[in-house]
Amino acid sequence: MVTEYICWDCEKGYRPQDLQRAAKILKQHGLVAFPTETVYGLGGSGLCPEAAKKIYEAKGRPSDNPLILHISKSEQLPMIAERIPDVAYPLMKAFWPGPMTLIFHKNKCVPHEITGGLETVAVRMPSHEAARMLIEAAGVPIAAPSANTSGRPSPTTAAHVREDLDGRIEMIIDGGAVNIGVESTIVDLTEDIPTILRPGHITKDMLQQVAGEVRMDAGLLGTDSDRKPKAPGMKYRHYAPRAKMTVFDGELDVVVKQINDRAREYPAAQVGILASEETADSYTHGQVVSVGSRNAGTIEQGLYSALRLFDHKGVEVILSESFSQEDKGEAIMNRLMKAAGQHIIYLSRE
Ligand code: AMP
Ligand code: MG
Repeated sequence: MVTEYICWDCEKGYRPQDLQRAAKILKQHGLVAFPTETVYGLGGSGLCPEAAKKIYEAKGRPSDNPLILHISKSEQLPMIAERIPDVAYPLMKAFWPGPMTLIFHKNKCVPHEITGGLETVAVRMPSHEAARMLIEAAGVPIAAPSANTSGRPSPTTAAHVREDLDGRIEMIIDGGAVNIGVESTIVDLTEDIPTILRPGHITKDMLQQVAGEVRMDAGLLGTDSDRKPKAPGMKYRHYAPRAKMTVFDGELDVVVKQINDRAREYPAAQVGILASEETADSYTHGQVVSVGSRNAGTIEQGLYSALRLFDHKGVEVILSESFSQEDKGEAIMNRLMKAAGQHIIYLSRE
């Protein structure tokens, strides 16, 4: 298959004929990758089992890992969700359109192929104009997981999507680099208390200010070792570069010293160091990649690009700094730890 490329420009938007072609592909159950504010999505018609199958195939995604349905206006919600609890309304008012996904009981018109066999459905209204216009033009909710090969870091540019899916899908819409850089916060509203199944840019504090009590899924916190995360996707090794990665946690100067010492155990070409702007100059050996600035808060945006860059550099080992767990740091550390297969070394000052 030859993948067609079109552009969305933040000032000029789409060329009308391009938007029509993209919508037509979706209506005919083909696949279109498009930018959202979180990461690029791989879109297919949201109520169609055939499109769902194609999404799983193109990504190589396990079929028990359900897809998120993307809508462009709240009126589309009753078509796909049932028994919407009262707490949903203030949450949607506060955070939609935006990087929050809500889990509801599914309506019968949502096929099980979309929900990985579950009786619940994940729904999000993205704020990115290109995504909203595409959903609108397609006239149906769009199923859209991240537009990467399953297991690889999520794409934050169209070039990342091309790396993984060129020749496997009908179209890629290039809207430049995304804004946020990590996937949406997933909140389960089918429980008595809203429960975060995946941390994201919308933090627990932000949700609590609107919805009252909110809790973290026990499987995510690791406090209940018998419980698997309730979002099926969270149990897979994920977001991962090809090299084996270790995260070092502790006071920053101790971490930098330890990474410098360990790096020297490898040839410089084979060892990657995931650093921040504030520390990058402290490393003297290895392939140093700065993920962004701790002080300016740009780590979230740069994380997946940095992980992919290590693949391009062909390193065999990655030694990574760790970042604050506070606030938006929760999402960053959740993704970083998954990329590292949960491999972390805690350091203390001697
Ligand atoms: P992605 O589309 O790559 O951002 O992945 C979607 C995430 O949403 C995965 O972690 C899924 O397991 C999760 N998800 C989708 N639908 C549901 C659902 N009905 N219940 C729980 N988690 C879900
Ligand atoms: Mg994904």
